[in-house]
Amino acid sequence: MKMNKRPFPLATLCSYEKRIDPTPDYQRPPAWSRKQKQLLLDTILREYDIPKMYWRAVKRADGVEYEVVDGQQRLRTIWEFRKGDFALAKDMDDICGYKVAGMKYEDLPLDVRTIFDAYPVDVVVVDDAAQADQEDEVRDMFLRLQNGTILKAQEKRNAMTGAMRDFVKDVARHPFFENCRFSNSRFAFDHIAAQTVLLEIEGGPTSVRDKDLNDLYEEHSQFASDGKVAKKVRRVYDFLLQTFPEKTPELERYNVITLYCLASVLVDGYVCEGLETKLRDWFIKFEAERKENEDKSDEQKDIQLVEYRRLISQSTDSQESIAARLDFFEKRFFDAVPDVEPKDPQRGFSNEQRLAIFRRDGGICQLKLRCDGIKVGWDHWHADHKLPHSKGGKSVVSNGQVACPECNFAKGAAKPVVNAAE
Ligand SMILES: [Zn+2]
Repeated sequence: MKMNKRPFPLATLCSYEKRIDPTPDYQRPPAWSRKQKQLLLDTILREYDIPKMYWRAVKRADGVEYEVVDGQQRLRTIWEFRKGDFALAKDMDDICGYKVAGMKYEDLPLDVRTIFDAYPVDVVVVDDAAQADQEDEVRDMFLRLQNGTILKAQEKRNAMTGAMRDFVKDVARHPFFENCRFSNSRFAFDHIAAQTVLLEIEGGPTSVRDKDLNDLYEEHSQFASDGKVAKKVRRVYDFLLQTFPEKTPELERYNVITLYCLASVLVDGYVCEGLETKLRDWFIKFEAERKENEDKSDEQKDIQLVEYRRLISQSTDSQESIAARLDFFEKRFFDAVPDVEPKDPQRGFSNEQRLAIFRRDGGICQLKLRCDGIKVGWDHWHADHKLPHSKGGKSVVSNGQVACPECNFAKGAAKPVVNAAE
């Protein structure tokens, strides 16, 4: 990818408005408050520095246009102020001896308008040639740009046929995604859904690049949407939805995959009931710490968070990166929440245990949900966990009881996840 840096006077930036798309699909942060806007204008009129902007040059039929990779709020604020959409703060100090408080652009003294018009903003323009597969040391600055490029590939996959495509589309409609910060433009939900399905099929961290996802769609065109993997995927997203029941701005494209992997580990091996709040609190605190760390001086930075930043910045779809990020999340989460209770590793009862339970209960259904306690035959009963396995119930004789198939089914129907496999 090619990059050019040059200063743009604000007057030029304003004249470029028609050629600039400030909200490409990969970047939609919330709008700035009036106060934030006024603070930026104060900075500009005092001729202090503001951060660089990053644009991506896109060739169109009638010339080059620009997508704003970073800096859209600043750019919008500058345009709005130039058009007179808002005024400077009412308590703003004088500029070069001129009173400017509460003024709009047009009311400003000519000298102050000139400061605005001539103020230079450094803009880094990236050439459109960025390739999704290209490994490049500058890519970390362009995480969002990179996502924009990759998402085009998901558009193509959505046009494919087969059971995997249908299943992924179904998962992408899970309400959890609506609570993330990003939108489904360019099929971001489908892309992440496909990646998580592949991770689940492989049973853990694996490469989830475009090529791998294309193979997934082709090789699993007969995918069973009610099979074991499909059920597990839905269960993890259900758990994530319970964990994040409302819009959560911390849920970004770069951390949802890792969060899914952690949730998948928890759903498999730990008692998840009551864990939702702990996971949410930990995650929100972690993201806040991470952002604070960015602003610290190099000597004060948490070196592990620096490494994590590197991991979310480059080759994010590689097996190594996902494995390292999951490892990092696991360490931090279990450190912060040490009392997570493992499920009994033994999922079912052994033959010896079944026999002991059957003899103890005299072969009588103990559930009595659909019967009055009928006697069942040895070949027609279920060993039911009194306290369900998913809630930490152990596979020990004292936690087992005889259930007739009808009652067991009724209990299962009331709580399908808990008893589906019992
Ligand atoms: Zn019964």
